[in-house]
Amino acid sequence: MTKSTFHSHSRFDDGQEELEAYIESALTKNFQVFGFSAHAPVNFETDWTMPLESFEEYIDTTKFLKEKYKDKIEIYTGLETDYYPGCTDWRRKKGIEYTIGAVHFLLDEQTGKYLPLDGTREEFEETLEYGFRNDIHALFKAYFSQIREMLMKMPPNIVAHLDVIRKNNSGNTFFDEDDKVYREEVLKTLDIISLTNTIVEVNTGGISRGYVSTPYPSIWVLEACRDMDIPIMVNSDSHHPDSIDFYYDEAYAILKSIGINKQRILYKNEWCDVSL
Ligand SMILES: [Zn+2]
Ligand SMILES: [Zn+2]
Repeated sequence: MTKSTFHSHSRFDDGQEELEAYIESALTKNFQVFGFSAHAPVNFETDWTMPLESFEEYIDTTKFLKEKYKDKIEIYTGLETDYYPGCTDWRRKKGIEYTIGAVHFLLDEQTGKYLPLDGTREEFEETLEYGFRNDIHALFKAYFSQIREMLMKMPPNIVAHLDVIRKNNSGNTFFDEDDKVYREEVLKTLDIISLTNTIVEVNTGGISRGYVSTPYPSIWVLEACRDMDIPIMVNSDSHHPDSIDFYYDEAYAILKSIGINKQRILYKNEWCDVSL
C-alpha cells in the first residue's frame, strides 16, 4: 500500500500553515508520497487562490523540501488549476509536475460575474437563482460541459472533485442524483475522461469540512469509473496538516467494497498503478 495525497493547500492559498508542516505531518502518518497543489493564480481578485507574486516562492519552497526530505518521502509540486474562459495554461510552467483541473465557478457571460459552485449554501442558491433562473438542469449542463471543455482543450492529469456541485446538496436540497439529466451529464463526462486518460480523484475534503458524508464522487460514479477502466486516486484536499489523511481508511474500504483495488499516482517520477 502506498499512502499518498496529491491535493493539499497551505498558507500560500486558502489553507493554513507552512508547506513543511504538511511534510512533517505526512511523515508521522506514514505517507510515502506527498503532492502540493496550491490554487493556481486566476486573472481576477479572489481570497482563495495563490497570488501570482507568490508563485516563485512556492516553487522554490517545494524544491527545497523535496531535497531536504528526499530520503524520507517523495514530494511533488503541482497546482489545482481553474478552467474558465481566458484562463492560463499552467501545465508546462517551470517547476510544475502535475495539475488537478477544477471548475469552481462559472462565468456569467451577460454580467461578467463569476458564479461560485463550491461555496456556501447561500452562494449556491444565488448561483442557481441569478445565474440559471432556478433551472437546476441548466446548471448541471453548464458545469459538466465546462469540465468536458477543460478535458478536451487543456486536459489536466487529474480531475478535481468531479461532482462538487453536490457539496450543499445533503438531504437532496437542490437535486436528486437519480435525475436523468444529472446522470447523463456525469456519464457523458466520464466518456471524455476515459478518452483523455485523466485520473478521477476520490476527494475526502468535503467530509473533513463538514459538507458531505461521502467522498466526491458518489459511489455510483466510482462504479462507472470501475466499469470504464478510468483510473482513480485518493486525495484529502486538506487545508490543514492534521487532515491530510482524513477519512482515508473509510475511502479505501469503500473502493475495495466495489472492486477497486488500485489507484494511479506519481511514484518514482512515473504515473503508475499501485495497490490500495
Ligand atoms: Zn477544489
Ligand atoms: Zn483543493
